Amino acid sequence: MERSLRDPTPAFVAGTTKKPAPPSRTRRSGPYTSGEEDFAVRNSGVKSVLVTGGAGFLGSHLCERLIDAGHDVLCVDNFYTGNRRNIARLLGHPNFELMRHDVTFPLYVEVDQIFNLACPASPIHYQHDPVQTTKTSVHGAINMLGLAKRVGAKILQASTSEVYGDPTVHPQREDYWGHVNPIGMRACYDEGKRCAETLFFDYWRQHGLRIKVGRIFNTYGPRMHPNDGRVVSNFVVQALKGAPITICGDGSQTRSFCYVSDLVDALVRLMNSPDDFTGPVNLGNDSELTILELAQHVIRLCNSPSKIIREPLPSDDPRQRQPDTTLARERLGWQASTQLDEGLAKTIAYFEETLASGRQPSPGS
Ligand code: NAD
Ligand code: UDP
Repeated sequence: MERSLRDPTPAFVAGTTKKPAPPSRTRRSGPYTSGEEDFAVRNSGVKSVLVTGGAGFLGSHLCERLIDAGHDVLCVDNFYTGNRRNIARLLGHPNFELMRHDVTFPLYVEVDQIFNLACPASPIHYQHDPVQTTKTSVHGAINMLGLAKRVGAKILQASTSEVYGDPTVHPQREDYWGHVNPIGMRACYDEGKRCAETLFFDYWRQHGLRIKVGRIFNTYGPRMHPNDGRVVSNFVVQALKGAPITICGDGSQTRSFCYVSDLVDALVRLMNSPDDFTGPVNLGNDSELTILELAQHVIRLCNSPSKIIREPLPSDDPRQRQPDTTLARERLGWQASTQLDEGLAKTIAYFEETLASGRQPSPGS
């Protein structure tokens, strides 16, 4: 049964344990006066979309993309690592709602699609409270899958290249099962994300849910947190300040960096792919480089006097990482197109502005 578009209940109903209204397939704000308008809205393709972790780095860019496409977006975030400033442009937009909520607790809303991004993503942040990290991935997945099942929503999981651990197969294809230390410092994140994938596929097999699993490889761009320890933000901030560039280990470990707008494009394409395509699918840029090469790019682009210094390699740090993106090309018609220098230039401009303004976005603000 469709919820009547004249029903005054907001499309996103929160904070109640009573049985919620059936899902709305379309939503718009404001009153509806004629049956013709109802018909037009119902056929406009406007969707109610939930983005968990929507105030974070990737989530905020995704919310913007969805709003710009005309959808109604509910951003759910507990501001553990996210920031209100990331979504400043959207606050007050009639199609945007923000809800402070922790996904480890059940959520009762009506939506058509769920992008499940809530989870701290940088090693410093996810290792700060590892038990909470596992809970966010596992309980969060259970709660969001339960919501998707109840309202018949399509649901996408922001999984990660970390499910491959320190890979023994290179480049990584989706059929590689990975090489993860289950008791190491990274396990709260890696195993939490692996368990979330398990839950997604069990809900698909057992309950026929429409699921999408995207394995995101290292992504960078504006709105990365300057102090979260990720390599691109660290190197750019260090280079702009003329401070030493901290290379962990000998810098020969590799990563493949994807610019944020490319990644958001992939997430939207994955969500809108045919129902028979569940993934998992690698989402990333397949140009691989060493961390030392990345440092040299950043120093050159910032025209920085910074010198390189060595720091110990963190435990279980993957030696090499490169996505095989054949499946994404074939099934999503998607390929990352932003060159590293172009993406780094935009990221550097963002951090220059952030540092000049003296703003240090702190998680929770
Ligand atoms: P981020 O830390 O900027 O964003 C995560 C968001 O989730 C933050 O806004 C945070 O406050 C929120 N959050 C954390 N725990 C929560 C909880 N219990 N309830 C509600 N909200 C919660 O990280 P990001 O880089 O934007 O990553 C987003 C997603 O993409 C994560 O799931 C991450 O695992 C995945 N991912 C990111 C990358 C990358 O390179 N950025 C790579 C692989 C996977
Ligand atoms: N790294 C580094 N210097 C830094 C931060 C990170 O050399 O200041 C290295 C880190 O050891 C890893 C790589 O850069 O080998 C990527 O680290 P990041 O935390 O960005 O991502 P992940 O390890 O999760 O891929």
